[in-house]
Amino acid sequence: MPSIKNHLSASFHTQEGRCLYCDQPMWLADPTAFAARWGLSRRQAARHQATAEHLRPKSDGGRDVAANIAAACSYCNHHRHPRGRATPALSPAKYRAHVQRRRARKGWHGFWPLVDVAGGGTPPRPSSVVQL
Ligand SMILES: [Zn+2]
Repeated sequence: MPSIKNHLSASFHTQEGRCLYCDQPMWLADPTAFAARWGLSRRQAARHQATAEHLRPKSDGGRDVAANIAAACSYCNHHRHPRGRATPALSPAKYRAHVQRRRARKGWHGFWPLVDVAGGGTPPRPSSVVQL
């Protein structure tokens, strides 16, 4: 039976390494190379770690199955599911809309300029392949 790590890895590749919510690039295994590629500090890069996002939260009965796992950056994942919060998490679609609005006002992470130092230019436009 595939583990949650397998699901995360599969989602990461399906999503072309982009966060489900903020569309920012993420890393799976090598923060140092990621930081170098995007010109970030290690601390900044930490926010871009790919994490297994439960579309239906575990607290709401969501399971560790492929259909319920997407890849989201550490920052977005932790803000959707803050510890100790009494109110339920927003749905993935509503949360993505929230994140995109915040990003438009530069009120979300990624306000540092993400320029692909290694590849040159700016990040490509994300392709959203996950149905919310
Ligand atoms: Zn994100």
